[in-house]
Amino acid sequence: MDMQVQSKMDFDRPLTERVAIVTGSTSGIGLGIARSLAQAGASVVINGLGEQGEIDFVCGELDKLCPVSRVVYNGANLMKPDEATGLVEETIKDFGRVDILVNNAGIQHVSPIESFPPDKYEAIIALNLSAAWYTSRAAFGLMKANGFGRIINIASAHGLVASPFKSAYVAAKHGIVGLTKTVALEGAEHNVTCNAICPGYVWTPLVENQIDDTAKARGITREQVIRDVLLAAQPNKRFAEVEELGALAVLLSGPGGQSITGTAIPVDGGWTAH
Ligand code: NAD
Repeated sequence: MDMQVQSKMDFDRPLTERVAIVTGSTSGIGLGIARSLAQAGASVVINGLGEQGEIDFVCGELDKLCPVSRVVYNGANLMKPDEATGLVEETIKDFGRVDILVNNAGIQHVSPIESFPPDKYEAIIALNLSAAWYTSRAAFGLMKANGFGRIINIASAHGLVASPFKSAYVAAKHGIVGLTKTVALEGAEHNVTCNAICPGYVWTPLVENQIDDTAKARGITREQVIRDVLLAAQPNKRFAEVEELGALAVLLSGPGGQSITGTAIPVDGGWTAH
């Protein structure tokens, strides 16, 4: 093959032959990251909740993005440690390897701490923090043996700063930044990197659905909701888009990410610069 064509193809698909797991990738940020990784040539294991028809549609769309990679779905409930471990073990059984692990699945609950329901606290810690510990633990040994691994934890601006009424979420997200640093140190000599991406507000269906409801509840316009309520702390006054997070995940997973490890990278329009 013409060398120029070969190098152009590698540039277009820097993750060819890589196998990636993206947790919580049936919607929102996880789906955006899965799409970017598939476009970059990786085979992707999709995970998350949803109707079977929607999941089949998502997998079909992702499958079309790269002719040489494979897309499979694994329905592990990551609230359960054995299923989080099983997600990684089943991927290794199926593909023989796991190169990229994106811990993205997460939930939120907003309440003053004195009335915060304990079951919501436990669920947030289980999914937003403990699941990432179990999947990382399950993947780390093989990554180390292979001399290649990329673990990417989707934290939040709330992994770096706090807001009131989000005690469980902020605790979990600060926790995952600590986990990121520890795994990075353990993987450093083995070409296993671990980084946290810390988004501010991202344009997802979850956010879109809040806008009209908030506008109605407060008697203000959509534009006022976006600028003065949702993006009050975000100086650039725009939502990040899932493609921006996908591009960062591809960078961290590819050759350009080799020396980037142990970081918590804000994608927050300046929020945490305050
Ligand atoms: P989302 O609700 O669109 O997606 C969450 C995903 O997690 C879905 O695929 C859902 O099916 C999956 N999930 C939920 N419970 C699960 C379980 N028990 N087992 C397996 N999967 C499960 O949310 P999103 O906005 O895309 O958020 C994704 C991540 O990004 C979360 O960790 C969130 O904290 C973080 N984040 C989001 C924003 C934002 O503005 N949207 C900002 C900062 C950080």
